[in-house]
Amino acid sequence: MCADKTASAGAPTGLPLASPSAVRPEVCGFKPYTPGLSIDEIRDRYGLAHVIKLASNENPLGTSPVVQHALRHKANLAFRYAQSGNPRLTAAIAAHHGVPAECVVAGNGSDEIIDLIVRVRAVPGVHNVVAFNPCFSIYELQTRLAGVEFRQTPLAADFSFDWDGLMALVDDATAVVFVTTPDNPSGFCPPVADLERLARALPSGCLLVVDEAYMDFCGDESAHSLLGRIDEFPNLAVLRTFSKSFGLAGLRLGYGILPVQLADYLRRVRLPFSVNILAEEAGLAALADDVFRAETLRVTSEGRAALTEGLTALGCHVYPSKANFVMFRPAPASSPSSSGGAAHLFEELLRRGIIIRPLKSYGLPDLLRVSVGSPDENAAFLKAAGEIMAHA
Ligand SMILES: *Cc1c(COP(=O)(O)O)cnc(C)c1O
Repeated sequence: MCADKTASAGAPTGLPLASPSAVRPEVCGFKPYTPGLSIDEIRDRYGLAHVIKLASNENPLGTSPVVQHALRHKANLAFRYAQSGNPRLTAAIAAHHGVPAECVVAGNGSDEIIDLIVRVRAVPGVHNVVAFNPCFSIYELQTRLAGVEFRQTPLAADFSFDWDGLMALVDDATAVVFVTTPDNPSGFCPPVADLERLARALPSGCLLVVDEAYMDFCGDESAHSLLGRIDEFPNLAVLRTFSKSFGLAGLRLGYGILPVQLADYLRRVRLPFSVNILAEEAGLAALADDVFRAETLRVTSEGRAALTEGLTALGCHVYPSKANFVMFRPAPASSPSSSGGAAHLFEELLRRGIIIRPLKSYGLPDLLRVSVGSPDENAAFLKAAGEIMAHA
């Protein structure tokens, strides 16, 4: 047991609780999640009228008008609990992907599904969870919160996946392996054959969780995703989200497609109404809105190409991306005395009202990630970045 700051140092471990604020040892080292900065924060800090946020991979087209209509139309339902288990929504998701509805579990963002998978599968002190380093921070946070060992192996220098390194960490006590594809923050997206090989190579008791939050941006899902073939892989779970291409980040809606029995257990332990009634209605409307999705994918793919070209032309090193963001290393400073680099560019962009994502929290202080915005936002970002780097 660890005590909070107000309790006496060196509090005895074990029960009884030293103070009402004492917490489990797993919780002591926790720092708050590092999100992208918010528009309001930067508007207030620098007294700006207009702020562009390209930090959290949100949809550049905003919220679909069809979804807005559904939300207004259904606002009167806010007093009701959603139907337990969200059967209409899970049926619609299942139909969208051509998978059985029993395999689908909806959650309060795919973050909730990640949390549930770890807690349902992994026994503290017995099992471990394996991922690459860096990886999406929620895998590690929820694993540590569960008191379960978290093992990581570094990505290759070019941010591709070192599968041998990953397999070397796996043993009979590995409950879950997390892989993100396309990866965050690099945008790297391995061929589907690699995942096939991994799924087959893992011990049969180990669940492979492929987080496909960005998969629909890759341009050719059958070349990169196993989702259409889950019946071939009894140890495979796939995560998707409404936060990115569907434009519903603020409503919190994601889902997992899981082996049937595991899906059943997740539904049993999930807090009953974690997917609220308006999120459910928005999700249903978003799934039916092919026009908005097609436009999102087009704008994203064109914007990604524009950012890649533009940053490359400015002398940055841009990593190839299949997602709705690109990771890059800023151009080397023109004068050796100047404090160039990622931190400088990030801060100077902020002053000009453009928020991108520093990658210090991923352990990558020399790199930055910028989300694909609207054509105007991308152009404004490239113009400002060019000016800043010219004066570095
Ligand atoms: C954005 C993102 C998610 C989605 O999270 P939600 O909880 O559904 O908003 C999941 N995984 C990765 C790697 C992400 O970047």
